[in-house]
Amino acid sequence: MNDNAPPRVRNITGMDVLRLPLLGPLLRHRHGRLALQAGATLLALALVIDGFVGPQSAARNLATVTPWVYLRGFVVIALLLAGNIVCMGCPFTLPRTLAKRLSLSGRRFPARLRNKWLSIAGLFALFFFYEYLDLWASPWLSAWLIVVYFAASFALEAIFAESAFCKYICPLGAFNMVYSTLSPSRIAVKSPDICASCVGKECVNGSYAPQPVLRIDEIQIAGAESQRVEVRHGPRGTLGCGTELFAPQIRSNLDCTFCLDCVRACPHDNVSLFTRAPGAELNRPAGWSRRWDVSLLAIALGFMGISNAFGMVPPYYALQEWLALDLGLSSEFIALLLIFGLMNLLLPAAVAIGAAWLGRGITGFRGRDSLRETVAAFAPAFVPLGFGIWFAHYSFHLLVGPLLILPVIQEFLGGIGDWARFSLSLDINAIGLIQLVALLAGFFWSLRLAQKAALRLYRRKALLGLLPWALIYLLMMLAAWQIFSLPMEMRGTLELFG
Ligand code: SF4
Ligand code: SF4
Repeated sequence: MNDNAPPRVRNITGMDVLRLPLLGPLLRHRHGRLALQAGATLLALALVIDGFVGPQSAARNLATVTPWVYLRGFVVIALLLAGNIVCMGCPFTLPRTLAKRLSLSGRRFPARLRNKWLSIAGLFALFFFYEYLDLWASPWLSAWLIVVYFAASFALEAIFAESAFCKYICPLGAFNMVYSTLSPSRIAVKSPDICASCVGKECVNGSYAPQPVLRIDEIQIAGAESQRVEVRHGPRGTLGCGTELFAPQIRSNLDCTFCLDCVRACPHDNVSLFTRAPGAELNRPAGWSRRWDVSLLAIALGFMGISNAFGMVPPYYALQEWLALDLGLSSEFIALLLIFGLMNLLLPAAVAIGAAWLGRGITGFRGRDSLRETVAAFAPAFVPLGFGIWFAHYSFHLLVGPLLILPVIQEFLGGIGDWARFSLSLDINAIGLIQLVALLAGFFWSLRLAQKAALRLYRRKALLGLLPWALIYLLMMLAAWQIFSLPMEMRGTLELFG
């Protein structure tokens, strides 16, 4: 049988988002991502220009207002309602496409660095310098940060064959990827049968070739006649998955940038973006890696959410004063390194290892699972609470002045900013309620996931095994709530409300 129409067998639940009118064809188009990236590049350019030559006032400059107030709020809302669409439109991966077109072969990223330790270090550095350099207050420094980001991603994407920057280094990508694991969408194949007889595995290998190539694949599907499908590679082809995910084996959104290159490269129209129950993978033990780096990334991000908010409330300044006056630690750099090092790295590692050790001990399962396996079983449960903390924080900054970016744009375009007209704010009590709901929802979701993990590990002694973890979630939630109840610096909008 010779039939160029790809076989259509559907083994998956969830709506195929790429079948939606307008949105589907736009995202599937071979230049679909390029269009998003071009828009994002223009926006980044505007930020850099305003940062360097615009007013050096945080609340009146696109370079500070956009990333530190609006983009962060947009990111958490998008992750919750759709998926990792910020990475999808990220312009930093453009150099990879360019390098391939220029026939730069690229080398493999060093094997020892193919993990999430650099991502954790990158997140730590980003939050540290955000606080130490007051990045939110300096359009000039924020513009430099964007330039440095472009340069770093360009160099790494051009040097290495895979998207090393996205997968192993980018702190923004690490944030998006971890929290996209609770998004209501994922990449999946329609029929594993088709993948089994697919010759080129273009979803990961790509369909790009300097010269046109034609291949005939014989596709076998259980219980159906085989079909022959023409597969074309050529200069108009698509690169394979930059983060080297093989579509039929994807179990998690972690490492997926939602670039949809796999969709465009697959010659059998067998991979797509599907809806799913939010956070479905967090329930499945097979969904997540059991590596230390992956577990600690998810856990540390929750603690970073607390320390990031802590840096904006009065007790943080009191702590700095105490360190300086009573302990003689006058260097702000060292004091901040100490506070963030403790809160963002040592504390998450210590409480996770401590809870795993205690849980195994009181349930009598010490000899069965290693500490690493126990921490890995409970690490996904940190995702909802961590997300709740970030959501509560970012929604505060977004909702105190949701339209204040409009006069900033007006001024950037040379007009007069209509500040009075766009200065409306959501009632502070309503914002507080949203924050409380986000924290409680994250807490109870985390508790439920941890309960399931405890049942899997400890069966009849699940309640005992759950206790140390439940206590950590409770303390994290209460700490975050306490911080959000305090007067918080309205960074980027202060001057307008002061
Ligand atoms: S997703 Fe497409 S390209 Fe990848 S293995 Fe399956 S059929 Fe082949
Ligand atoms: S699996 Fe890979 S190619 Fe497909 S959307 Fe995710 S990152 Fe992109």
